[in-house]
Amino acid sequence: MKIKDEVAKRKTFAIISHPDAGKTTLTEKLLLYGNLIRSAGTVKGKKSGKFATSDWMEIEKQRGISVTSSVMNFPYKDFQVNILDTPGHEDFSEDTYRTLTAVDSVVMIIDSVKGIEAQTIKLFKVCRMRGIPIFTFINKLDREGREPLELLEEIEEVLEIETYPMNWPAGMGKRFLGIFDRYNHQFIKFNGNEAETHIPLSEIEGFEELITKEEFVAASDELDLLNEAGNQFSLEAVLRGEQTPVFFGSAIAPFGVQDFFDTFITLAPTPGPRKATEGIVAPDDPDFSGFIFKIQANMNPAHRDRIAFVRICSGKFERGMSVKLSRTGKVFKLAQSQQIVASSRDTIDEAYAGDIIGIYDPNAYQIGDTLIEGKANFEFDELPKFPPELFKKVMAKNVMKSKQFKKGIEQLVQEGAIQLFKDKRTESYILGAVGELQYEVFKYRMENEYNVEVLFEQIGERIPRWLKTEQVKESLFDDRNLLVRDRNDNYLVLFRNEFSLNWFKDNHKEIDLIDLFEVNSYG
Ligand code: GDP
Repeated sequence: MKIKDEVAKRKTFAIISHPDAGKTTLTEKLLLYGNLIRSAGTVKGKKSGKFATSDWMEIEKQRGISVTSSVMNFPYKDFQVNILDTPGHEDFSEDTYRTLTAVDSVVMIIDSVKGIEAQTIKLFKVCRMRGIPIFTFINKLDREGREPLELLEEIEEVLEIETYPMNWPAGMGKRFLGIFDRYNHQFIKFNGNEAETHIPLSEIEGFEELITKEEFVAASDELDLLNEAGNQFSLEAVLRGEQTPVFFGSAIAPFGVQDFFDTFITLAPTPGPRKATEGIVAPDDPDFSGFIFKIQANMNPAHRDRIAFVRICSGKFERGMSVKLSRTGKVFKLAQSQQIVASSRDTIDEAYAGDIIGIYDPNAYQIGDTLIEGKANFEFDELPKFPPELFKKVMAKNVMKSKQFKKGIEQLVQEGAIQLFKDKRTESYILGAVGELQYEVFKYRMENEYNVEVLFEQIGERIPRWLKTEQVKESLFDDRNLLVRDRNDNYLVLFRNEFSLNWFKDNHKEIDLIDLFEVNSYG
């Protein structure tokens, strides 16, 4: 019974956005509501643009474990909240994608001035292929942004998801009056620097000055139209990932943020069952189980420890418990466990399905590994592979070291740190990654753990498309559209750009080009 109650409190989600949309600002407000920090401005040092300030963060920086790996965990109302950060900027990597396999829902922030941007689309695609429920926060209403209807249209068209505005803004920028909260039947009035006021719609007639304003009347008319002809709210559709509830607000003011959070946290799903090789694993199953979605290697040679991030899928974690690594059958004692929080790093004694814990990795774990308690034997579904975007040729600086070079690459690739391909003609090694950071980590670890200096030769951004083996025709490809083999000997083409890809599609309709994002959604 206890486990079931604990699981029912868990809300585990990630916030996704394009850099500068306001992820840090919004996260900070949520941490304030959760009493995790005392004042705004502590999460991100504005000058460096990096997370900074607290001692813990300084230590983390020195030790090379980036704070961007953080999981923020705090109680809020009746809930236990886990927010997973999805590193953007120069830290964007496969880990960012993999983080999304560990959450139950996602908050997508969109800048009301800029609309949908590149990184949002990429992260959205991953949510879509996993069927993760997505809640949208359209930020920066205090600025002159695009028309709300236009923004909704863009979401529906570009992301192909139905929208349901949970609230509706009256004016924006300097003429911003506030929002109609459709869900709670109230008007939230914007008062500039002063705290917002909540007016039940049944009492709005008393606010003569407000309701006669042009922006109020216009928004009210639009709302009538939405009520009549717009989409119906459907929580079922939201939970299936087919409809996104849209909230307007301003993270910095803050305006509408706490109302958004209260509604979101109520509607967001609690941990559900997860697919495994032996069937479905229920979150309230008494035996502990979980999977590793990320391994953070320490870049400081004086502290060679690594931390594995585990998403608990069932049961209860207790410090000191023994678990079995399904892949090898070996048993490990989980003695050092950490919960990673933005402001402190505490050892935790217990955790439940839905929670994320960091455990000490005795160099035994791999990304995607399943850990289980008890007699059962199963593995959770393999983590999806994500299409790399950035490619480089790699070689050992000293040819005498080719043995260590191969061993190092093999292990790092196995671990999921980076992807490896081979040129079809020259057999040279090509690495593929989602972001530049992966190359830096790779180079560093090759030098420090395998004692091999590596050289890169830039290939650049490419668009990978997999081929069906029987359709491979070497003559069709050259250095521009490079034919390579992945680790499982499947062929793919690295197209130079969107133009080459489309040209190829038009001229070789007989050849199927497979996008990894699409493959995963059918898998
Ligand atoms: P991140 O890169 O997504 O984490 O974005 P930040 O939270 O760092 O915000 C990027 C910039 O937008 C910063 O200068 C913020 O002060 C600003 N910003 C965030 N939210 C708002 C908002 O609601 N209104 C306005 N005008 N600016 C905002």
